[in-house]
Amino acid sequence: MAEFRFEVAACPKCGAPVRAIVERLVCYALLQPADGGGHDYADETKVDWNSQHVDVSADGECLLLCECDHVWPTAFEVPSARQSAESAYGLAHPSTPGDACGR
Ligand SMILES: [Zn+2]
Repeated sequence: MAEFRFEVAACPKCGAPVRAIVERLVCYALLQPADGGGHDYADETKVDWNSQHVDVSADGECLLLCECDHVWPTAFEVPSARQSAESAYGLAHPSTPGDACGR
């Protein structure tokens, strides 16, 4: 069974088939104390790969890309999921690393 079914599966601009779906994930840019107070970037970012999820708009649409990097919105379904596509993939509150801390 397909993971996704898209209402508009081909690019409206060039007609090419869908190549990718826009997803989001959370990352944490590490900080360090700055000279004279405040903070600077520590030039390292931790990526929470478990937070990766389809970027679902408020009206339940996702964004697709063709091979030319055109982007278009479309309604979609997740046939294997009993719940709506938005609840299956629209992760409103991703976990944070601190969730595993016992302190
Ligand atoms: Zn295109």
